[in-house]
Amino acid sequence: MSESNLNPEEPKKSLNFIEVAVENDLKEGKNDGRVQTRFPPEPNGYLHIGHAKAICIDFGIAKEYGGICNLRFDDTNPVKEDVEYVDSIMDDIKWLGYNWANVYYASDYFPQLWDFAVQMIKDGKAYVDEQSAEEIAKQKGTPTQAGTESPFRNRPVEENLDLFNKMNSGELAEGSMVLRARIDMAAPNMHMRDPIMYRIIHHPHHRTGNKWYAYPMYDFAHGQSDYIEGVTHSLCTLEFDVHRPLYDWFIDQLATGDYRPHQYEFNKLQFTYTLLSKRNLRAMVEENILSGWDDPRMPTIRGFRRRGYTPESIRILMDKIGYTKYDGVNDIGLLEHSIREDLNKIATRVSAVLDPIKLVITNYPEGQTEVMSAQNNPEDENAGNHNITFSRELFIERDDFMEDAPKKYFRLTPGNEVRLKNGYIVKCTGCKKDENGNVAEVYAEYDPLTKSGMPDSGRKVKGTIHWVSTEDCFDAEVRLYDRLFVVENPADDERDFRELLNPDSLKILKGCKMEAYLKNAKEGDKFQFQRTGYFCIDKDSTAGNVIFNRTVSLKDSWAKAKVK
Ligand code: ATP
Ligand code: MG
Repeated sequence: MSESNLNPEEPKKSLNFIEVAVENDLKEGKNDGRVQTRFPPEPNGYLHIGHAKAICIDFGIAKEYGGICNLRFDDTNPVKEDVEYVDSIMDDIKWLGYNWANVYYASDYFPQLWDFAVQMIKDGKAYVDEQSAEEIAKQKGTPTQAGTESPFRNRPVEENLDLFNKMNSGELAEGSMVLRARIDMAAPNMHMRDPIMYRIIHHPHHRTGNKWYAYPMYDFAHGQSDYIEGVTHSLCTLEFDVHRPLYDWFIDQLATGDYRPHQYEFNKLQFTYTLLSKRNLRAMVEENILSGWDDPRMPTIRGFRRRGYTPESIRILMDKIGYTKYDGVNDIGLLEHSIREDLNKIATRVSAVLDPIKLVITNYPEGQTEVMSAQNNPEDENAGNHNITFSRELFIERDDFMEDAPKKYFRLTPGNEVRLKNGYIVKCTGCKKDENGNVAEVYAEYDPLTKSGMPDSGRKVKGTIHWVSTEDCFDAEVRLYDRLFVVENPADDERDFRELLNPDSLKILKGCKMEAYLKNAKEGDKFQFQRTGYFCIDKDSTAGNVIFNRTVSLKDSWAKAKVK
């Protein structure tokens, strides 16, 4: 199902088709050697990981070829748009590491677009159609059968001008008429069959208020906006390739010189176990299925940020996945692999016990503690060390002890030896049970000659386990996130997405035991909980209730689950 088996270690081999096109244009001296792109979000929701793919190529191409990339809000539909989204979009782009040259709004061009439309009416290239949307749709024909011309197609210019003005006066009902381009109702490309340029909307616009009642359609606004701004390479996703002839046609009606923006289409990003459309994401927020646009399970940039993803891991992955001309679904494991690789390089190693049980070292003096040293990151020799406390009573993970263990169990079981990470080798001597027969405490004896860092005692133990001292550890909440959907391709599933949700996508653990070093952790800090996974501090965290989010487990547990 996935498009490629990428080896993340492989260096980038060749230029993608967009880079090839840009280099050809530069060689031919097109557009005076300028490279200008734009990222054109509609401010009707928060950005998702698919948008990150568009951002990386839009800003990336400009950077690579010494050009500029502008941020343009495609705000031609006032009904769904809001400034809240404008602000979050800017913030997320910056977080990803990109800077725009200018911020523009398609609504800034409404006056010019209006003038273009008036000019087209005067040239006999546009007309006002009073038919209903259903009638217009019926007349479209089929790909193999020509459409039918509207009875309003040959209206006199003056009448068209008058009605177009009325469309913008507020006196006409929504849907009562539209402005259409007069192209060809028999064109093989259905988008060329007299497409709609303007429709009436009675909803205040977040920037222009009640100034306009006639609003341009995407197809009329987008290319013209590119043209007005001087965009050279207009990059969008594949579904727009059938719109390209219309994009070019509109610009041909208006262009005066040689300069032409060009549209290039690349494959949309789609991950397994993930839904990306804003419509569905908004539903999950509005129906309280998730806690908000920044819920760490959301595939939004906000969600990934809060979950502990780094901008580097996202940028590197987009580059590796690449830009092609065919759609496909990428394995979500690639994204998880990418963040694991990045965090492995930067995350501080700490000990946290998520499901604690007490381990008592019976031959260690009561009341004694020792300061030991823990390496912050074996992958980074400059990362240094931090101190940890060793004591007679420790917490270990409940599943690191088994009373009756199978042969290959190398952790604590009576008679067996393990190394306590950064501490001593201990030998398990037994356990105490509560009245229900559950293990309440585990016992062991330590060997003082086996302290970490001492000359090798020659002792070989097969298991190493992590621990924290009861003397100075503290309690915290840990949120374990998992995939939001249980099916591989929720986007293609016929069932409603609400039926496909993973009921275990969030597990909240309370009373987890954290080593004292984590008391000073701040929002955004990144840690590896040894043997468990990568974690970060959640924004809901307070001094009295520290909360950690699991960014990703240490290994891909899903890959293992599948093999079984
Ligand atoms: P959605 O359908 O998810 O709501 P959209 O395409 O309507 O997304 P826009 O705000 O219009 O969202 O998109 C801004 C830019 O991001 C466009 O150039 C669009 O092609 C691109 N984009 C959107 N989704 C993806 C995706 N999954 N992969 C790559 N680019 C995308
Ligand atoms: Mg859109």
